[in-house]
Amino acid sequence: MNSTLGAFSFSDGPLDTAALQRQLRDDSCGGFAAFEGWVRNHNEGHAVTRLEYEAFVELAEKEGARIVAEACERYGVARAACVHRVGSLGLGDIAVWVGVSAAHRDEAFRACRFIIDEVKHRVPIWKKEHYVNGDSGWVNCERCAMPGEHEHGHSHDHQHAPAMPAPDYSRQMALREVGPGGQARLRGASVLVVGAGGLGVPVLQYLAGAGVGRLGIVDGDRLEASNLHRQTWYALADCGREKALLAAARVRALNPEVRTETHTLRLDAGNAERLVAGYDLVLDCSDNFSTKFLLNDVALRTGKPVLFASVYQYEGQLQLVTGDDASACLRCVWPQATRDGLVGNCAEAGVLGPVPGVFGSLQALEALKYLLGLPGLAANEMLIFDLVTLSAQRLRARRAADCAAHGACNNAATASAPESLEIHFASLAEAIAAGHTLIDVRDTRERDAEPMPAPSLHLPMSKLLTAAPTLEPEVRYLLVCASGRRSGAAADLLRSQGLGACRSLRGGLNGLKAPA
Ligand SMILES: [Zn+2]
Repeated sequence: MNSTLGAFSFSDGPLDTAALQRQLRDDSCGGFAAFEGWVRNHNEGHAVTRLEYEAFVELAEKEGARIVAEACERYGVARAACVHRVGSLGLGDIAVWVGVSAAHRDEAFRACRFIIDEVKHRVPIWKKEHYVNGDSGWVNCERCAMPGEHEHGHSHDHQHAPAMPAPDYSRQMALREVGPGGQARLRGASVLVVGAGGLGVPVLQYLAGAGVGRLGIVDGDRLEASNLHRQTWYALADCGREKALLAAARVRALNPEVRTETHTLRLDAGNAERLVAGYDLVLDCSDNFSTKFLLNDVALRTGKPVLFASVYQYEGQLQLVTGDDASACLRCVWPQATRDGLVGNCAEAGVLGPVPGVFGSLQALEALKYLLGLPGLAANEMLIFDLVTLSAQRLRARRAADCAAHGACNNAATASAPESLEIHFASLAEAIAAGHTLIDVRDTRERDAEPMPAPSLHLPMSKLLTAAPTLEPEVRYLLVCASGRRSGAAADLLRSQGLGACRSLRGGLNGLKAPA
């Protein structure tokens, strides 16, 4: 090891920053930014006298080079490099150096910041601090998504990072249905995971653990502290970082044999087909209906299978859309529900962490069954679990003859709710006088906070799917929620199940309060 400049390298001796800087000189560049991390004399209340660094050099160099390449691509910078020390360092020594040459200062600063943040986070390097009182300790272990994390644990007395074992699939290969042949199938398979959140985390964990050869990760969000109760793969210290990159680092730490491809963007009509094209199977782990319907339509256009999961409070559902014309799609089941509002997302509705954990785990299981060719979740069925009562249901999902999405190249995404679904009344008394039976689709908490001002049935969204058969087709139901959004989607759903006289109160209860 020496300080010759690669994109990312280690040095076991002091860094010559002037020489490093000269190697990044580029006359086309107007900006140069450098960062130096120094050994300081204290950490978390301990007085530090010196440090030692150890690294899995080969792995670390690969990951470091990947980070520098990502920075160059992301910020369009000309040249960048990072050198990290290993071995023994004294106070004031430079532990890590980053340099970036770019056309302008802004790119240089931002790429420099990106590189040091990612290196701190992703590159497997251990730091041992020596304290004034003679003690020493390995630190920063829990923040690194590092291979071997479990082996070296967080003990404060070990001397050497252990050698990393190879991934071992023996426990799943022992299954007759897997065996060497199945393992080879998994290694040759590729899966695109849309969403690296509550569903995506267990999905990625199990697919990476199983040795699925290539995983694409689509997520445009950054981690927030409120995500962590259900996205327990991440760390509090990760907040503010892009989830797709965090998830990819975790996958690599769990199983370096898995290739990851990250897409830090939101899936939209402009990129969806291109993104799904390179994969065998797509898993919808998104929390919004516009993404789900977009993926549904892409599945029908391209024949790419998409396995959907949705969670609402304590319940959720799974559906496989195979993309073939004879099988049911999401729009066969939810013909007009193109808008969000049919169910809330976690931010609006609230959720206990294990609920998406259960459904993400089921999704991972179904994906492995699909890839291994095992009998799995059939198309034309929907699996619904209520985790309060622990009851499961398999419902038939019928291929609807008039489903807009099964047409050739029509743009089903533009479908919207027909006006006739909604109706306006000045008061609920007027609606009852016109022959309607009121159904309150709000949840219990909302209903308690603001009771309905007229007699009504209570059928919250979470119960709608399963309770529909108890409603009577000839009764004129008027569905009511706070704003008219959920009730509109609910009326849609009930109509698709044969309750053609269902309508939704336009504007909901809020509309009744507002002056006309
Ligand atoms: Zn359909």
